[in-house]
Parts: sequence; C-alpha cells; structure tokens
Amino acid sequence: MTKKPLALVVDDDNASRITMVAALRKAGFETEQADNGEKAVDVFTLRQPDLVFLDVMMPGMDGFDTCRAIRACPGGEYVQILMVTGLDDTKSIEKSFLAGGNDFVSKPINWAVFGHRARYMLRAGKALKDAYLSRGLLAQTQDVAKIGNWKIDFQTGLCTISSEAMVLLGFGAEVKEDLSISEMLDLLIGQHKPDVYDTVVDSIRGRESFTINFQRETPQGSAQHIYMRGETLLNENRKPDFLLGVVQDITRMKRAEDEIRYLAFYDSLTGLANRTLFLDRLKKIIEYSERNGRSFALLFMDIDNFKQINDTMGHYAGDILLKNTAAIIKKCTRKSDTVGIKGLNSPGNLVARHGGDEFVLILAEIASPESAAIVARRLLEAIPQPQIIENQEISVTTSIGISVYPEDGTDTDVLFRHADTAMYHAKKIGRNNFQFFDESFNAAAVARFSLEQDLKVALANDDFILYFQPQFNLIDQKVVGVEALIRWNHREKGFIAPDQFIAIAEDCGLIVEINKWVIRAACEQSRKWSNKGLADVRIAVNLSGYRLGEQDIVGTLKANLDKFSLSGRNIEVEVTENVLMQNTEAIVETLKGMKELGVRVSLDDFGTGYSSLSYLTSFQVDVIKIDRSFVMGCISNNKNKVIIKAIIAMGHSLGMKIVAEGVETLEQFEFLKKYDCDECQGYYFSPAVPAIEIEQRLLKASAAVKRA
Ligand code: C2E
Ligand code: CA
Ligand code: CA
Repeated sequence: MTKKPLALVVDDDNASRITMVAALRKAGFETEQADNGEKAVDVFTLRQPDLVFLDVMMPGMDGFDTCRAIRACPGGEYVQILMVTGLDDTKSIEKSFLAGGNDFVSKPINWAVFGHRARYMLRAGKALKDAYLSRGLLAQTQDVAKIGNWKIDFQTGLCTISSEAMVLLGFGAEVKEDLSISEMLDLLIGQHKPDVYDTVVDSIRGRESFTINFQRETPQGSAQHIYMRGETLLNENRKPDFLLGVVQDITRMKRAEDEIRYLAFYDSLTGLANRTLFLDRLKKIIEYSERNGRSFALLFMDIDNFKQINDTMGHYAGDILLKNTAAIIKKCTRKSDTVGIKGLNSPGNLVARHGGDEFVLILAEIASPESAAIVARRLLEAIPQPQIIENQEISVTTSIGISVYPEDGTDTDVLFRHADTAMYHAKKIGRNNFQFFDESFNAAAVARFSLEQDLKVALANDDFILYFQPQFNLIDQKVVGVEALIRWNHREKGFIAPDQFIAIAEDCGLIVEINKWVIRAACEQSRKWSNKGLADVRIAVNLSGYRLGEQDIVGTLKANLDKFSLSGRNIEVEVTENVLMQNTEAIVETLKGMKELGVRVSLDDFGTGYSSLSYLTSFQVDVIKIDRSFVMGCISNNKNKVIIKAIIAMGHSLGMKIVAEGVETLEQFEFLKKYDCDECQGYYFSPAVPAIEIEQRLLKASAAVKRA
C-alpha cells in the first residue's frame, strides 16, 4: 500500500479546522493540525507534509509570516502552500503570493470541490518538487564535477549554454545566449556526429528527457568522452516549458574505467589477455562458430624447462623471458591474418597468458586444422631465437598442444582439456614440437609440412613448368592468346596440379617466389614465340591474391618485359575478385601500374565471389572471365544461362571483354557465341598443353593462312 499524502491544516478557528481536516481525510489524505503559526512551523519541520492549508488571519504570527517561515525551513521550498483567505480579499491574495503561497482558497469554502482541489495541488506540487530537485541536484553536481549546463526554452525555441559548458567543450569561457537549437548542438556535439545529433534532436522534438554518452572532438582536435543529459521541466499544467541539460566531460572517468578493465582482463607482466578474458572469449567463439558453422583452434603452449631457467637465473630474468615470449607469440599470430577466411563479426584471434609459463591461443576461423599447424610451426621457429637477458644469451623452446573445434570438443572444458593433453604428449615425445589432440590431424600436418619443404626445393631446382591453354575468338575461332597454368614436376610424385600446392605456397609465403617465376617464365616464352613469328599470342598469367599489393608485381613485370624486349600487350594478368576487395592503396597502385605498362587485367572466376559492380567500375578491369562452373551447367541449368547473359551484357556495357572458361561442348560454345561472348577456352578446344604443342598448332595455322 502506498503511503497516504500528508496535509497540514493551520487555523485558529477550531470549527473550520476540523471541517477541513474531515474533508481532507475523505479525499484520502492523512492530516496534521496546528492552531497557530509557531506550532505550524514545528509540525512542518517534524512531519514534512506534502500540502499546507494556511489561514491568513491568525492572532500572533499571521498566515503570511507563517508561510515565509515554512518556506525558510529545510524542505519548505518545495511544499505546496494554499492560503485560506476571506472572500474576494484581493489584497490578501496578492500578499499570499508575495509570501510564497502557491494558490489560495476563499472562505466560505466550497466543500464539494475542495477534495479535488487538494489532490490537484498535490500532483502539481510533486511535479514541481521533482523539477526543483533535479534542478537542485544539477546545480550541486555541477559544482562538484565541473559540469556545464544548457537550456532550451520551448516557448521561444532559444538556447543558452553556460560558460562552464563552453570551457569544458574547448571553447572560450563566454556564455552563449539566444542560440538556435542546431547552433547549440553544433557546439555540444560537433558536426561530425550525425547519429548522436539525430538522437538528441529527436528527444528535443518530442520534448522528452534523454541521456546519452558519446565521443566528440574538441576544437583543438583532442578526443573527448561526453555525458549529456536533458530533463524537461514541467509547468503547473504538466507541459514542458524548458529542457534543462547538463554536459560533462567523462574522458578521465572512461580512462579510469579502461584501466580497471585492463587490470581485470589483462596480465600486467606481458600485456596479454588473462585467463578471465580468455575463458570469456573462448565461450564467445564457440557460440560464434556454432552459429556460423566455422572452425577454430585452441593452442596450449608451455615453455620447455622454464622452471629451471627461473631457478638458476632468478625471477627477474624469468619475467623478461615471459615478456619476450609473449611479444613473439603476438607477432606470430598477427602474421596469421591470412589464415582462414575472416567473417564479418568474427571474434578474432586471441593470445592469453594462462598463468606461469603457459600461454593459450585462439585461432579463429581456420579453414582447416592445417592453418593451426602453420601457426604452431611458425611459433616453434620464432621462439628459440636467442635472447640476451642479464648479459646471458639464452634460448628456449616450447611445446604446443592443439585442439580443434568442433572435432575435438564443443565446450570450453573439453577443448581446453584436449589441448592440454596434446601439449603433454608434445612434451613426452621430446619437447619443441606441436601435437594435435586428434592423431589424424597430426598425420595430415606432417604430410603437408613435407610438401612445403619439397616446394622450397622445387623452387630452388626450377621443377616447375608452364602449360598453356589456348583462348579463342568466338567469331572466327582463331587463337588470340593462351592462359599459362603452372605444373609442378615433383621428383618422386610426378606432376602435381596447382590446386594441390598454390594454397600451401600462400600459407608459407613461397607464393611470392612462384609469382615471380611465373611472370619470368611467361615472358621468356613470349620472347621465344615472337622470335618464331608468333608475336601476337598474348600470355595470361594467374597471380594469387595473397598479399599481392606487397610484392612489387609491377616492378617484376616491367623488369621482365624489358629483359625480354616485350610490350605490355604480350602479357595479361588474371586476378580474382578478392584482390579488388582488398582495395588497399597498394592494390590500387599495382593495378594502375599494370595498366600503365599496357598489361591487360582480367578478373578470373567471375561470379563465384562478391561479383560487385562497383569494384569493376572503379578499377577499370579489361576482361571478365566467367567462371567455368557457370559455363559447365549452362545448357541444362536455366539459372546459369541467365547469369551468363547478364554478365555478358553488364560487362559489355562497361566496355569490358568477356572470356568464358571451361567450355567443354559444342552446345556451350554456340550458346556463348549467340550471346556475344568475346573469347573462350576449354576442353572442347584444347586442355592446357606444353608450349611446343601450342607452337606447332599456331605455326601450322599461320602456314595455312599464308598458303591460302
Ligand atoms: P583457373 O585460373 O580458373 O584455371 C582454369 C583451370 O580449369 C585450369 O586448371 C584448367 O586446366 C582447367 N580447365 C580448363 N578448361 C577446362 C574445361 O573445359 N573443363 C574443366 N573441368 N576444367 C578446365 P588447373 O591448371 O589445374 O589450375 C587450377 C587453378 O590453379 C587455376 O584456376 C588457378 O586458380 C590456379 N593456378 C594455375 N596456374 C597458376 C599459376 O601459375 N599461378 C597461380 N597463382 N595460380 C595458378
Ligand atoms: Ca585463371
Ligand atoms: Ca578461372
């Protein structure tokens, strides 16, 4: 049950006092009485009533004096005081207001409406009290916390900003008056925050109170965290007259919060995440991976023989060693940003110190367990690098255990336990190695590692060869170019297709060398063909998108074009859409550089990726290659037909040439021809073949032309 409101009735006349009390009780009030002014002040101080009914005509302290006295009491400024005057005694009414009365009621009292009147006064009083209180609170807190304030007058639509507000926002200490709302908000929020701006404007329009936190930039350019609040002040009719606001610089508070968060979630020695944050993130990534059908790896690593080092060299040295190791781990995982595909809301990788000399890593979004093996191997290589600690050179190794979601477990405990078990296994079989919990992953990792080693050898021994697949003009079916496709002639395993090793080369960085090799080999071949009168055959090379912007491809191209005295028209470069999507300055420069050399740029596998028109137009690609998956099913699948027609029409409207790949049948060829595709390639004409076969074919054709 809510507390009844309390009314104090002050009247020297017993009869009228008692009648009033009875009426108020009926209206739901609790009551107190006083028959003179002094008593009234005492009762007020003791009971803090919500309403006071005050007879103006009393012996001794009259109603006006009593009103003033009550107003001066603590809490007296908010109470509703109703003066009880004689009929139409205008003088008394005026005096009542001057003394601080809120309203008056004349004798004889209309008892029929008296109760309603009292309840109305109570409501109005409460609203006013709240407003006064918040104003009072504002004034107080402003003093303590250096808060600035501002005000909007809804009658005039004009605003005022206090000098404190101006100072804390980085302006001069001048009070600003008669501003429009938008002028005021520009000062408060700044012009670069349209979302915050709109939120606040919406509240102001609706005349509603609001609270908001945001970041702004001071005129001096420093970042500031701002807390802003606006409170509507209601008049007696419960309508908002003003919006009274505060603005506070909470930058220091935020910083303190950050610090607290740091202490709670990070390890102070190494700066890595601590166990708490790690467990939280592990939970999150499990949820994320489950939702999105992704995989991730958990690496548990432990420094080999750390205890021994700590005991012999001391804790200080041990601490430095841990710090250095943490830094190396961080660096190694940062490099792994190309491992796996990054989802939009992926929680990302995390390195944490689990305690002592144990570290844990979460590798988000791995494409396969192999990606985790690559990082583990990188760690095992980087960590033993000698460090100088206290004038002594020391070198440590680590043992790493890996568990993979979801194969090795789907909850934090199991995944963690399995990574731990795998780590102990790694220790047991001699330290300085990594082990998957799942044995089959270990076997795959070993196989892949050996392929990676072989790849290095292959590059050194020049065990690669380019095959060429002819590309035909659809109108006259003449060969206009060839696509160079790499083959690895493995010394023991025979020919290995690019699908088997390009991804590995990307992961271990060897792709940079492979790109160079391909460009050189293609240019060399082009020179040979030119020497034999086949100068018109353009050779298209495939460049993997992996860190393409960082490889000085343009430099490599230019050097080889020069070396073999070729023009840019002899070479074409095929890249996939993910290259354009990287949209870094380096990529933009690379593509521009190629065009300046006169090298044709074509977009490979179009239709399988983002197929974003805006990228096509902004990069001015010359050629679109329709992915073979569309071409292959184009006769039986109507959807593919529509897509192909659309790509051709769209490409042509942008001034691009269209090449179809994977053409295997006459029907496919005729379909493409009908819809104006420009060039095509595929098994229907020829698979990729050694250079000599292309050469013979082309020489035969040109001889035939000459004979004719
Ligand atoms: P891609 O660039 O889409 O190359 C076309 C692939 O389709 C080639 O496979 C080619 O032999 C094959 N192909 C050609 N015509 C037909 C056809 O009518 N039907 C079918 N089913 N397939 C056809 P390949 O040579 O095994 O190359 C596979 C992928 O490896 C290439 O796809 C390309 O992404 C990559 N690749 C090849 N050579 C290189 C290279 O020198 N450097 C780089 N970075 N990647 C390369
Ligand atoms: Ca290609
Ligand atoms: Ca392709």
